Amino acid sequence: MAKLFIEDLDVSGKRVLVRVDFNVPLDESGAITNDKRIVASLPTITYLSGRGAKVILMSHLGRPKGERTSEFSLKPVAEDLKGRFPGKVSFVDDCVGDAVAAAVDGLNDGDILLLENVRFYKEETANGGGFAAKLASLGDIYVNDAFGSAHRAHASTEGVTRHIEQCAAGYLMKKELDYLGAAVGNPARPFVAILGGAKISGKIDVIANLLDKVDTLLIGGAMMFTFYKAQGKEIGKSLLEEDKVDLARETLEKAGDKMVLPVDTIVAETFSNDAPGTAVPVDAIPADTMGLDIGPETIALFTKKLEGAKTIVWNGPMGVFEFDNYAVGTNEIAKVLAACTKKGATTIVGGGDSASAAKKAGVAKQISHISTGGGASLELLEGKELPGVAALSEA
Ligand code: AMP
Repeated sequence: MAKLFIEDLDVSGKRVLVRVDFNVPLDESGAITNDKRIVASLPTITYLSGRGAKVILMSHLGRPKGERTSEFSLKPVAEDLKGRFPGKVSFVDDCVGDAVAAAVDGLNDGDILLLENVRFYKEETANGGGFAAKLASLGDIYVNDAFGSAHRAHASTEGVTRHIEQCAAGYLMKKELDYLGAAVGNPARPFVAILGGAKISGKIDVIANLLDKVDTLLIGGAMMFTFYKAQGKEIGKSLLEEDKVDLARETLEKAGDKMVLPVDTIVAETFSNDAPGTAVPVDAIPADTMGLDIGPETIALFTKKLEGAKTIVWNGPMGVFEFDNYAVGTNEIAKVLAACTKKGATTIVGGGDSASAAKKAGVAKQISHISTGGGASLELLEGKELPGVAALSEA
């Protein structure tokens, strides 16, 4: 990684302003229902606190749109952190201003202060210069560990770096960039990517960028039907992006045999978990049915294509995996990835749906890296530079 890393810095006694991703899901009572984002930030917090830094944590939570609402308060996260770092954690119910400055002044070396949601100010997403400078005034050093927000040029991810000299990546940020960066920049080969999900439109830039880099690109999910429409096939009532058919045709022509489409699909008459499914070849989709998953022949074909791969990147489910009866293709691909990891492949799963699918299939621990950032990982796979990363100091 060409960027400054926290281990390169002398943090002892310094005020270190850290952008973390504490955008955790909360239930109606305000209890955290999944703490994986907090857990993912712990290596950086533990390191800084252990080295005697005054650790100042800032994050967003949800979309309060510049309004101060208790529903989006980071207070529950502060309570959680207190249990993990006894006696060291405090919380201040703002992120800029006099009360915050006083709280920072009161920190001892190794203490951890969590600021209130930065999105309580609309200047955060607008990346207002004055607001970024106020945030920056709280730290001598800036660390960004919020990979999931690095594709957004906000005040706490980008603006702040213009006012602090040393801006470094934390452990989570480095891990994400090392895995995803190596996959798109310098992958061990064969390099196979699997893309699924609903729409070509959300993934077309990823397809275009990856086609230049991969040895094989496997396509599943509903987007296969737009490709099949482009080939003149009957796709019945399957999901179709009418306005992307030409684009699909051009992509197929450009891709040649690098791109591999499913050979069979599980069709049903209605969009429902209880609708009985039948496996049919993709050339024989009945007009009154829709494809909801990849079929067994496709699972076998994809398994074969993945065998021997040294780098595998997966983003997007193979079917309507929210329906248990149509999650088979997605689950099987997750299991194949786990088996490939065992045989020495580096396996990387993009955030969002494919990450929950890997978890649901019970193989999350057997994947080399599951990204914590859906949008950010897609942008890296598109070949884009993330503003929150670009803004960090060079190593
Ligand atoms: P995306 O956000 O583009 O990654 O798409 C994820 C969504 O694609 C999930 O909610 C899946 O249910 C949906 N999906 C995948 N395959 C199909 C399919 N064959 N028909 C309808 N929706 C699908």
